[in-house]
Amino acid sequence: MRIDFHTHCFPDALAVKAVSRLSHVSGGLTPYTDGTVAGLRRSMVEEGVNASVVLHIATNPTQQKKVNDFAASIHNGVDIFSFGSVHPDAPDALEELERIKALGLPGVKLHPDYQGFAVDDPKMKPLYRKISDLGLVTVFHAGVDYGFTPPYGCMPAALARALDWFSTPVVAAHWGGIQCGEEVLRHLCGRDVYFDTSFGYGMMPKYYAEQILERHGAHRLLFGTDSPWHTATMEWRLLDSLGLSDTDREQIACGNAKRLLGLE
Ligand SMILES: [Zn+2]
Repeated sequence: MRIDFHTHCFPDALAVKAVSRLSHVSGGLTPYTDGTVAGLRRSMVEEGVNASVVLHIATNPTQQKKVNDFAASIHNGVDIFSFGSVHPDAPDALEELERIKALGLPGVKLHPDYQGFAVDDPKMKPLYRKISDLGLVTVFHAGVDYGFTPPYGCMPAALARALDWFSTPVVAAHWGGIQCGEEVLRHLCGRDVYFDTSFGYGMMPKYYAEQILERHGAHRLLFGTDSPWHTATMEWRLLDSLGLSDTDREQIACGNAKRLLGLE
């Protein structure tokens, strides 16, 4: 079984525009789906993925309700697991977290660059506390983001400081941080944090992937693609090059994800 812990899709009416805009601001990345839920499902069938975690981002304070309504509308807890999102500047962010919980979503995605905050800003503490109290999982975009200029809001040293403010699982996307191999090893390896493996193929040097696997452990890695921007086939080419044991493979492909999604 394979669970892809990092995918994106958009409402049908917005998908084409959203994907082409994101591609453009990120330097012309190739999209491998059309950005719709149906497109994601087609790619899952083609590439042998049984379930996908779909991550949403509230990019402004007034948008979070809409984003979470869409997230809930596609979440079925079978092949699609939607994460909600809140905007830190929304006056009702804490109430919206309660609504995310009530909607049955397993977690939230926060993207410091899109949402204009630093991951270790003390102003985030009440939000992180609420997430923890509700038992939600948090996924942070981590490292460089191709659509933004530096400084970036979730670099490994900053995330390492913020981890202490959570008592529920935290996932640092993209192997702990895009283009941050050295800092991930220094600041995050061995800490109580998961890394998803999304957007790693061709991006995460094999040396760092091997070091992270060895020093952080397969029990804290989650297979992910960042669909539509990478595919499962691409990410498994990287993972397959690391000499995984059968146990490693099972944990990364689905075992750890099942635990985080409450499936066992
Ligand atoms: Zn992503």
